[in-house]
Amino acid sequence: MNMVQPKVQVPDIAAQVSYAMRQMGVAPIPRNYELFYEAYIGSNPRLTKELAALGSRATQEELDAIGAQYFSQHQGKGVNGAHGRIVNELEDLLVMLKDEQNTLENYNRVLLETQARITTKSAASVDLLRNAIGVLSEATDTTVAQGKVTVEGVEAKSREMEDIRKELDEYKRIANTVSLTRLNNRRAFDDRLAAIYDSQRGRTTTALIVCDIDHFKRINDTFGHPVGDKILATVANIIRTNVRKDAFVARTGGEEFAVILDLTTPDDALMVAERVRKSLEGTPFKNSRTGVNYGPVTLSLGICMADQTEDSQDLYLKSDIALYCAKSTGRNRSLHFEDGMKKEASKSWLLYKK
Ligand code: GH3
Ligand code: MG
Ligand code: MG
Repeated sequence: MNMVQPKVQVPDIAAQVSYAMRQMGVAPIPRNYELFYEAYIGSNPRLTKELAALGSRATQEELDAIGAQYFSQHQGKGVNGAHGRIVNELEDLLVMLKDEQNTLENYNRVLLETQARITTKSAASVDLLRNAIGVLSEATDTTVAQGKVTVEGVEAKSREMEDIRKELDEYKRIANTVSLTRLNNRRAFDDRLAAIYDSQRGRTTTALIVCDIDHFKRINDTFGHPVGDKILATVANIIRTNVRKDAFVARTGGEEFAVILDLTTPDDALMVAERVRKSLEGTPFKNSRTGVNYGPVTLSLGICMADQTEDSQDLYLKSDIALYCAKSTGRNRSLHFEDGMKKEASKSWLLYKK
């Protein structure tokens, strides 16, 4: 992308994002960081382009306008709406409980008054007793009826609140996924990758597969960006359908994906990578209307086991080295990381390139 790139090799994306922000004179506040993070990993090329177009003296207003366009507006609207509805539901619930309380207080008062009348006057008065029974019976009926209304109301409200909760869960899921491919986004991936090292089992049985579409720039240049977008979505689907249901699949950058496999062996991980690769290789990309053939579309894949690494950064780096070797030895291949594998210091397939 066209943003200012660091001249020295810096260890991680966070540092590169901060560096670019400093170079562009952007205030180091969380919402700017979020914007630059998305732009940096290239999950949305249009966002990257618009941000780069602001040049080196972007105003906060211009940055916020882009931010509003790409995330906060879309997600915020739904979440704020749901939040507002929960507040309304809770207010209704309070009114209902208040009514119930009033009814019970009235009932209590009637009971006390009746008790007082019965005990202070002559108990022999049949009229008085009849009258007291009438009053009590009526008060009881009212209280029971009101109680029933309250129970029904509370039940309805809790159903409505359950619906809102489900809606909020969906917003949360959307916030964690990339809309074009419906996969986990880079942030979710970073969290998941770090979590591998929280347990001994994770450290010993997890594999990371990183994938990068071969010559994707050429596909875009030849057939246009919209075709590229459709191909990306198809590739995402092919990856998703060729891995176990519990595998963690993410879009980590523009045309880059990653799969985290738990409880696996090096052979299994290679088998999964090859299944994905062959499935994509065999998928026709022909436009049925125009007859134009966009294919073949292929992927190169790098695999590394967590037990070959120190931490999540090391795991990502070594998978990238394996991917580099798969690219430089002909592409459309899956390779395991092995000690001694090297790549040019400046080359990485896992950072969106210019
Ligand atoms: P290599 O085989 O070496 O990986 O070649 P490449 O052309 O795939 O690699 P490069 O990183 O040079 O190009 C990646 C291209 O992916 C450039 C960019 O325009 C495109 N791209 C990234 N994100 C998107 C997207 O969301 N939609 C589309 N259509 N293209 C994208
Ligand atoms: Mg590529
Ligand atoms: Mg790439």
